[in-house]
Amino acid sequence: MAFYIIFIKLLFMKDIFDKCKFADLELNSRIIRTGLWQSQDIEEVYEKYENIAKSGVGLMITELISIYPKDKFSEYSFKINNPHFMIEAKRLAEICHEYNVPILGQLEFIKFNRGIDLDIGINDLTIEDIRKIQSDIILACQKLKMVGFDGVQLALGNNFYLSKFINPYFNQRNDDYGGNTFNRMRIVLELIKVLKDNLGFHISCRVNANDGRKGGIDNDESIEMCKLLEKVGADSIQVTKPLSPLYFTKKVSDEAELLGFVERLMNEVEIPVILGGGFNEMDHMNELLNDSSVEFLSMYRPFVAEDGFLEKWKKEGSGVSRCKMCNNCYRTKTSTCYHF
Ligand code: SF4
Repeated sequence: MAFYIIFIKLLFMKDIFDKCKFADLELNSRIIRTGLWQSQDIEEVYEKYENIAKSGVGLMITELISIYPKDKFSEYSFKINNPHFMIEAKRLAEICHEYNVPILGQLEFIKFNRGIDLDIGINDLTIEDIRKIQSDIILACQKLKMVGFDGVQLALGNNFYLSKFINPYFNQRNDDYGGNTFNRMRIVLELIKVLKDNLGFHISCRVNANDGRKGGIDNDESIEMCKLLEKVGADSIQVTKPLSPLYFTKKVSDEAELLGFVERLMNEVEIPVILGGGFNEMDHMNELLNDSSVEFLSMYRPFVAEDGFLEKWKKEGSGVSRCKMCNNCYRTKTSTCYHF
């Protein structure tokens, strides 16, 4: 009997390398690779994507794709309006698909430009500006769809523009796009509705568990926002915090806070939820999967330190990333490692 119980338990244990469904997508594992800065030439990027895709990753989320050429982070990002972007993005999608790995483009902007004015504040946006932002994002999504991407991730978290737009700390508008939660979310809800009705590809939203600022978004409001996102058709949610999570081991900080939020959110929505953060140790990730209801984990810096490390982890049944957690790549906005 005891043997039978152990056998049943083992049968239902989760592993980071489980093949699984993620909304409409089939994944080779529970690991979501998320990118940030882009500083390499495109041939190196192709090689990196191939190494990551064939190593056993579940889902690729690109580095930031900037939609405004004069935006603050454009220099360190893919640019949707670059004449080569479509050709390069098509190749990235083909590389991922060769290994049955779906790919989402991460769209963001930090400052909205109107003509020579390069930093229009949230409360100064006209309705025409709001329509312009929505149509620029729709156009970017059309381009990604056209080159074979499986979907998009909208940056509604960290400190990107839309995360500020939906935040009462920044948004003091007194029209239909300010005030209560629904009104502040309206710009995004309208956008997702149009995207789902017309493009039908995967829409993931990256959201902050809370804002951390007095008068900003708290956990309760963030849950309400995620429910609204699901209602209009968002397919998945990735949870983060305003500054990129810095925990890397079970000994360090942010994990419990984000984990508690993700478990709570999973009780409130049906769509997949990704726990975002800096995991770097396979045993710890498997423990977390089996001690909680969490299904999907994202990783960023370990893929900067070594693109194909998952292959070793899979073969050896455990492993620790060689990333030293120095955060230099994050601070200096590069997609390569200072140490390796
Ligand atoms: S620069 Fe530091 S944080 Fe970035 S990948 Fe290398 S060791 Fe990790």
